[in-house]
Amino acid sequence: MKKKVVKFGGSSLASAEQFRKVGEIIRSDESRRYVVPSAPGKRFSADTKVTDMLYGCYHLAEAGKDFSGALENIRARYMEIIEGLSLDLSLNEQFEEIAENFRSKAGEDYAASRGEYLNGIVMAAYLGFEFVDAAEVVCFNADGSFNADKTDEVMSRRLADLGCAVIPGFYGAKPDGTVKTFSRGGSDITGSLVAKAVHADLYENWTDVSGFLVTDPRVVKDPATISTITYREMRELSYMGATVLHEDSIFPLRKEGIPINVRNTNRPEDPGTMIVESTCNKPRYTITGIGGKKGFASITIEKAMMNSEIGFVRKVLQVFEENGLSIEHTPSGIDTLTVYVNQNAFEAKEQQIIAGLHRAVQPDLIELESDLALIAVVGRGMRRTRGTAGRIFSALAHAHVNVKMIDQGSSELNIIIGVENRDFETAIQAIYNIFVVAQL
Ligand code: ASP
Repeated sequence: MKKKVVKFGGSSLASAEQFRKVGEIIRSDESRRYVVPSAPGKRFSADTKVTDMLYGCYHLAEAGKDFSGALENIRARYMEIIEGLSLDLSLNEQFEEIAENFRSKAGEDYAASRGEYLNGIVMAAYLGFEFVDAAEVVCFNADGSFNADKTDEVMSRRLADLGCAVIPGFYGAKPDGTVKTFSRGGSDITGSLVAKAVHADLYENWTDVSGFLVTDPRVVKDPATISTITYREMRELSYMGATVLHEDSIFPLRKEGIPINVRNTNRPEDPGTMIVESTCNKPRYTITGIGGKKGFASITIEKAMMNSEIGFVRKVLQVFEENGLSIEHTPSGIDTLTVYVNQNAFEAKEQQIIAGLHRAVQPDLIELESDLALIAVVGRGMRRTRGTAGRIFSALAHAHVNVKMIDQGSSELNIIIGVENRDFETAIQAIYNIFVVAQL
């Protein structure tokens, strides 16, 4: 029988009503055997996630203040779900233990992890699946770093004989048993780890959107959904600011060839987005997605005969390295090299860097420009298609956008375009129109 790992985000588990939708999804396909829940999220936009309530409650405890009211509010969130589902389940024991551990200052990670822990217990009771505490199967090293090999070994052994199980997301434990969490949104990572450990056929990540959108809905109204995206394309887009899935959740799966399907709990009929290692499936619109970010500065270093000076680029880059600045792009000409960096980070170090460059390479000229945006047009389909770049630039010209920089990686997976911040939205809309709207 097929094995699917299903992870549900906080908004999918925020109330009894949401739990019921989740139950229906799981019961409608018996291969959905391993369930990874987040903590209950927001029920409405002004609501507070249980994880944030836990952080707040623990901070009171840590400061020696009365946290009983705050903990009662958290208990109320779970009681609403338990009663709404008519479950015969009491969390009294667990809440007593949590209160005691808060009093003895068990740590912020322990506190935050209880959201997933309790939700896992509720979910296991609701589904009739076995509950497996993530502290047993997600392993961190004593220094707090994640131990991938040990996790895989321990988790595959523990899950091997279980037909069905609920494993709470977001946390694990160090060798001495201290609870440690991943960064925020980390339940996605747990889902990947479980999928890898059980050699799942598919990892379904259920959230409140129907997959990845071709571009940012704050820039383009109702953008189309991407039906299939590769891991590499996703990396290119996520780096440019698109976030649906925790970045670190793709690493455990990349080498395993396990696809991820991002689905919408509120619209289970939508196919969502498939994230795969590689595919012959042609993207519907030649391009897969358009990502982008504002707030870059560029530093152009000009020096006659630069191209024949061995070590020139290294010396330039070393100045940025020594100042702790990460570099986004380095387009170059015969006698020029331009370095794109985050503007805020650069502004703090501007004068040191300019002085450093003068010392390192004695340039003829250093030119600075700020308020720049980078747009990444990403698509595995570009390699096979003639004229993609031509279409992008004619769309931008028609939209009166001045292109300041072009960088096409030799993988032909993306074209990165630099424009002024104020042209950012116009540029994305123009590129979207030419590839997506014009094709509909
Ligand atoms: N509950 C945690 C958070 O709010 C982890 C997660 O939902 O993935 O970040």
